[in-house]
Amino acid sequence: MSTAERVQGLGTSVFTEMTELARRTGAVNLGQGVPELGAPRALLEEVAAAVLAGGNQYPPAQGFPALREAIAAHQLRRYGLEYAPQGEVLVTTGATEALAAALLALCDPGDEVLAFDPCYDAYPAGARFAGARLVGVPLAEEGWGSPQASSSGGGFVLDPDALRAAVTPRTRVLVLNTPHNPTGKVFTAEELDAVADVCREHDLTVVTDEVYEHLVYDGPDGGPGAHRTIAALPGMRERTLTVSSAGKTFNVTGWKIGWVCGPARLVAAVGAAKQFLTYASGTPYQEALARALGGVEEWAAELRGTLRRHRDLLSEGLARAGLRPCRADAGYFVQADIRAWGHADGARFCRELPARAGVVAIPTSAFYVRPGAPTHLVRFSFCRSEKSLCEAVERLVSAV
Ligand code: PMP
Ligand code: GLN
Repeated sequence: MSTAERVQGLGTSVFTEMTELARRTGAVNLGQGVPELGAPRALLEEVAAAVLAGGNQYPPAQGFPALREAIAAHQLRRYGLEYAPQGEVLVTTGATEALAAALLALCDPGDEVLAFDPCYDAYPAGARFAGARLVGVPLAEEGWGSPQASSSGGGFVLDPDALRAAVTPRTRVLVLNTPHNPTGKVFTAEELDAVADVCREHDLTVVTDEVYEHLVYDGPDGGPGAHRTIAALPGMRERTLTVSSAGKTFNVTGWKIGWVCGPARLVAAVGAAKQFLTYASGTPYQEALARALGGVEEWAAELRGTLRRHRDLLSEGLARAGLRPCRADAGYFVQADIRAWGHADGARFCRELPARAGVVAIPTSAFYVRPGAPTHLVRFSFCRSEKSLCEAVERLVSAV
């Protein structure tokens, strides 16, 4: 019996595959971005109380009003953007559903979707489900091989010419992701201006994935405040859907509570698709998160402190092991250049790493959509416990 073309070649995601490899081999899992860090105690207690109080039936399809209000207040407080809780905010089953529903709502068969390459694997899959094609716009590598890159292997920058060159009459949507997975890049104010220029010029709709919005440690534009949303730029609010989620912000990736904000016309279209994917989910989590989101800044400041230390611990450890790390200003991940270990093929390196060093990582090649993309980078996750990170570093250093 044949299956549909849209799932052919998708197989099992690299995250599932690598987590399974870690389980089978007993290797330290620095692959999938799954936190080994705790969530706020009060939030957990509220979920437990909500479950026991009977909050176990369908929530409203758009999400609980209190959570939509908290999301709207968050966007106003942080970014100065006003969204109506009724009509311009939609709660989804994680950012993943928001992204899939957005692409289903915005793309017709034959359309093209732009995303900066490397990109999160849900974008090409989501575009494909909508019958569209994702076109990767290369992020330029900066500082590779240069003397100032000796301790940190450089970073990634926007190439505005590459972006302009990728636009065709079929281009309909641009998916932006800042802070960025897998690179840890935070798009600068100038870069966002350049992206916005192209989107206004070519009348593109933007889907901006900001799930790491609270997890910026430093970078060319400064610390935690350096994350900017493209929706706040002139003429962009009306053409932008902003996606985020509670998973990374509160260390609750298993709850799958995400959301999307945007102009009513676009949010209604996402809602139309979303209601036939899951309809709605996560009643007790939604109720508890409505309160937690109000105090997110204090919690996030503490979490950033922990993750910054973890980022430094892992980056220094990778450097000691001869795996030159890229600069990671945000998010959960550091990438490393494996060439000093005599490898150029990250996929093979990652398959062999459990036996060689007892560590699991993700080949960055899994995030690239364009053919001929670099293969010498491997992604390590630092949202794991300090114990796991120290153990992994020790193993890598002694495996050299
Ligand atoms: N976008 C990016 C960039 C991610 O790294 C992830 C990983 N979890 C998601 C979306 C998915 O978020 P969620 O778990 O809320 O579906
Ligand atoms: N976002 C996580 C990562 O990049 C993985 C989520 C998943 O497994 N789908 O590792």
